Amino acid sequence: MDLSKHAFFEGKFIRFEDAKINIAVHGFLYGTTVFSGMRAYWNEEKKGLFVFRPYDHFHRLLDSAKIMSMSIPYDEQGLINLTLELLRKDNWQQDVYLRPTIYKADMGIGVRLHNLRDEFSMFVTSFDKYLSNDSNAHLTFSSWRRIDDNSIPARGKISGAYANSALIKTDANRAGFDEAIVLDQDGQVSEGSAMNFFMVRDGVLVTPPATDNILEGITRRSVIELAREELGIQVVERSIDRTEVFIAEELFMTGTAAQIVAATKVDYRPIGDGVMGPITTKLRALFDDVVRAKHPKYQHWNVEVNGG
Ligand code: PMP
Repeated sequence: MDLSKHAFFEGKFIRFEDAKINIAVHGFLYGTTVFSGMRAYWNEEKKGLFVFRPYDHFHRLLDSAKIMSMSIPYDEQGLINLTLELLRKDNWQQDVYLRPTIYKADMGIGVRLHNLRDEFSMFVTSFDKYLSNDSNAHLTFSSWRRIDDNSIPARGKISGAYANSALIKTDANRAGFDEAIVLDQDGQVSEGSAMNFFMVRDGVLVTPPATDNILEGITRRSVIELAREELGIQVVERSIDRTEVFIAEELFMTGTAAQIVAATKVDYRPIGDGVMGPITTKLRALFDDVVRAKHPKYQHWNVEVNGG
């Protein structure tokens, strides 16, 4: 992994190795940090780097900040401008991943959200595949439950909540699975450790609604639109039972890091024919074109780093 040479840190661009946080900082001690994970994709023909849907990512980041009673002196466009400047400083010519964070930056003991200073920082790293076998992943149902909206809201991308994701991911991997499907407190499918869930049943694409304890994924939103507009298939957001998953025709998970991961087995049961299905295959190809700014209809989702 190549890390950026520069970072944006608490109001200015500095050298990455100088972007350090003290061990007494609130966001570190109590998980009072919100973050985003964005990607920028290199388009070889256009020799350009394109950030994928940065407005939507920053809008969700600012929503997470609102939930956590945080405020910073930037709006979405201000954050996009910082992102483009940071990417230009290191002249990236490859796919990269960006990690912006907003955190309670004061030092000291005392868990709360109020009367604390908020700061914004961001760094860039090179990034390849998140799951090594993203075309035939084997999933399990996690024994952990998804955190509830009334405990730590999954809708907010809150660092402290990722202890739940880490428990889910490690136990799945140690048991030999690639990723896990997580049920919420009511026993309905929510999502994976860091990806949204989709299945195909009777030719209809089904995904849990935003009210079933999921992160409202930007990839999820993109895939719903592409499936409806480009593949002409029906997409339904509704609660999903555990056993529906076993009898789905196709199954995939989506996320900025994961992109579109095809799952072909769940707890040793083959999904459909046990190979990546036609809808997943088409969506993966379409999505790759769209994120690389190769699809004219969706270029409003691509912000070029050196454009205009
Ligand atoms: N759910 C969780 C818990 C996640 O961490 C992520 C990754 N950000 C996602 C879903 C997918 O969201 P997105 O497509 O916006 O990356």
